[in-house]
Amino acid sequence: MDRFLSEECRMVRDTARRLAEDVVAPAAARIDREDVFPRDIYTALAEQGLFGVALREEAGGVGMDALTACVVMEEIARGSGAVGNAFAIPVEAALFLDHHGSDHHRQWIPGILEGSVIPATAVTEPDHGSDVAAMKTTARREGDEYVIKGTKAWVTFGQVADIVMVFAKTDPDAGHKGISCILVETDRPGVIRGKSEDLLGMHGLAECQITFDEVRVPVANLVGPEHGAFKMAMENFNFSRLMMSSMALGMAQAGMEDAVAYATDRKQFGKPIFQHQAIQFMIADMAKDIAAARLLIHHAARLYDMGQPIAMEAAQAKLFTTDMAQTHISNALQIHGGNGYSREYRVERLFRDVRLSQIYEGTNQIQRMIIARQVEKQYA
Ligand SMILES: Cc1cc2nc3c(=O)[nH]c(=O)nc-3n(C[C@H](O)[C@H](O)[C@H](O)COP(=O)(O)OP(=O)(O)OC[C@H]3O[C@@H](n4cnc5c(N)ncnc54)[C@H](O)[C@@H]3O)c2cc1C
Repeated sequence: MDRFLSEECRMVRDTARRLAEDVVAPAAARIDREDVFPRDIYTALAEQGLFGVALREEAGGVGMDALTACVVMEEIARGSGAVGNAFAIPVEAALFLDHHGSDHHRQWIPGILEGSVIPATAVTEPDHGSDVAAMKTTARREGDEYVIKGTKAWVTFGQVADIVMVFAKTDPDAGHKGISCILVETDRPGVIRGKSEDLLGMHGLAECQITFDEVRVPVANLVGPEHGAFKMAMENFNFSRLMMSSMALGMAQAGMEDAVAYATDRKQFGKPIFQHQAIQFMIADMAKDIAAARLLIHHAARLYDMGQPIAMEAAQAKLFTTDMAQTHISNALQIHGGNGYSREYRVERLFRDVRLSQIYEGTNQIQRMIIARQVEKQYA
């Protein structure tokens, strides 16, 4: 795979790999155990300039591309899935504000890149998840302000965020054509954060509900066109699904490496278990599917960097990678026998962390719907 990557991409990848091995991986068990936002690790990523990896230089970024962002994500998630998840949020927020925002919004980008401004995105609601267009949160116009009312659920970084991109109905009767994106500073009166969610895995990301109780923001905080945010969110998914795919890929890679190390070391029936064909076949299937997933992701990222539409490719990459990561991390745990079920071994955490990747950024049922629609368009 390396041979297809540019010299610059490999340099950034090597920086991320060093950071992942020296700083991220050693902190992973602590982050999982404490379940507190790891500000120190977050800052370490920011200090390496990694949050601006895909952002153009004129906007303060590194000036690389989606492919490099995916490569970096794989490295970080190989060290810790949760830190990989944390890495995605500022990368995507800076790109989102640069693509869709005005100079008023872009003022937040330097802080996001240096880790001092923590962003979050609030689309999902307690009663409306996959059906984004059915959201109930409203933003009504009063003079030169919007007044936001409603509750958002599962906001990653919700507990610690300084700014939140809130998706709300500015025209409640217009379905998906009535949704706008409004940047809300969390120190505004009426922003009420719920308690942190108690999750199976991916600890340390400070997810919570946020209620917006008649929160007033200036009209200038509208990001992109009024009523135009559904399209923006869907376009954003193209990139974010590649990031989530790369995150699952990094975790699958870590699972395979652990499985190989364990199978080489552990002896049963007089030989290392790696020498039993049943184990070899599980590991061979891991290697095959990890390679295939990497190709799907890199192919889609290259198309994205060429400005091509990638709804189909992003959905395929997300669906294939997250399903295969779940399967093979489960097999890596199986190869560890009883030890795989113990917190002593990293594979137990990988097993819990990777499960989320099939649920968010559009569940894998939603990815199948997207793919089926594209197949219908192409072949029916
Ligand atoms: C840890 C975590 C972090 C998150 N972070 C954020 C965040 O930062 N910001 C944010 O806005 N959201 C976030 N989310 C929310 C996430 O995007 C949603 O959970 C996800 O989109 C699914 O929505 P839901 O949970 O309401 O499930 P539902 O939409 O209620 O779906 C339930 C089940 O029904 C299936 N289903 C739904 N519709 C269909 C259909 N038409 N056909 C077939 N099957 C269907 C789904 O696939 C799923 O299996 C996060 C979630 C979690 C768990």
